[in-house]
Amino acid sequence: MTQILIVGSVAFDTLHLPTGTFPRVLGGSATYASLAASNFAPSAIVGVVGTDFPAAAVSTLQERGIDTSGLEVGDGLSFHWEGRYTDDLLHRTTLATDLNVLATFDPKIPDAQRELPFVMLGNIAPALQLSVLDQMKAPRFVVADTMNFWIDSARADLDAVLKRVDLLVINEEEAWQLSGERHVGKVARALLSMGPKGVVVKRGEYGAMLFHDGRIFSAPGYPLDLVVDPTGAGDAFAGGLVGHLARLGRVDHDGLRAAVIHGSSVASFCVQGVSIDRLASLDAGALQDRIAGFSELVRFPA
Ligand code: AMP
Repeated sequence: MTQILIVGSVAFDTLHLPTGTFPRVLGGSATYASLAASNFAPSAIVGVVGTDFPAAAVSTLQERGIDTSGLEVGDGLSFHWEGRYTDDLLHRTTLATDLNVLATFDPKIPDAQRELPFVMLGNIAPALQLSVLDQMKAPRFVVADTMNFWIDSARADLDAVLKRVDLLVINEEEAWQLSGERHVGKVARALLSMGPKGVVVKRGEYGAMLFHDGRIFSAPGYPLDLVVDPTGAGDAFAGGLVGHLARLGRVDHDGLRAAVIHGSSVASFCVQGVSIDRLASLDAGALQDRIAGFSELVRFPA
């Protein structure tokens, strides 16, 4: 039975990677997050695409068990994002954010999905994240992600979202920007004071830090030999995290620690292929091996 509602962008991305340019590949925060979450628990997405969006892409999501009944087809072109990465893949510049059908999107959660216990507010306009929260009956756990584009352009709405979420998942540079602080302890305290009960600061290949319940958990990044395309890693992390919580049926501190490792594990696959390629073909065995690899990475004698 479906457990997770995921709202976010469903996109065409144009990616300039050191290995070449990949025009109009499948992307979007809801796409990555739902593919990641579906490894652990059934999820449903709410979003909008344009009339240019191929049916085959929707089938790719459905084949992973994702409920797409809340994916609308709007009158116009799909959301398009274009970014260029540095040769070391550590930094990227946004070249274009074409909202297209996302500019007028008014999310409508199908009745059957309003009672879902887990909600992931993927990266999308904070006003839309709020509208989704308003339509949900009584979610047990709400995770939210955001990015610089919305911190710059929709701060008041974002502040309202933060007051209503259990966990904010945010990358480090955006955490600096949102908090106005620079050192991770102070950054986390400032973000927690804005409302969320917990914060995860994502630090790219260096891992992630969870601040929750007065405690801190640090997960390393998995040491990879090959990184191809970091796009979507943050969304895959958040999707894997909420997926694990839903499967576990627990939202306590230890559950969150384990969820951070599960999110990191899925994200470590995401970056190994262009667009969703590696995520869409991920099998349970490979994922289990990676999770075991993570536990070995942080094991030490008591
Ligand atoms: P990440 O690499 O985790 O930050 O996520 C990248 C994905 O976010 C890409 O597939 C984009 O389509 C999507 N994206 C980029 N900018 C925005 C935006 N302003 N709103 C919603 N989604 C976005």
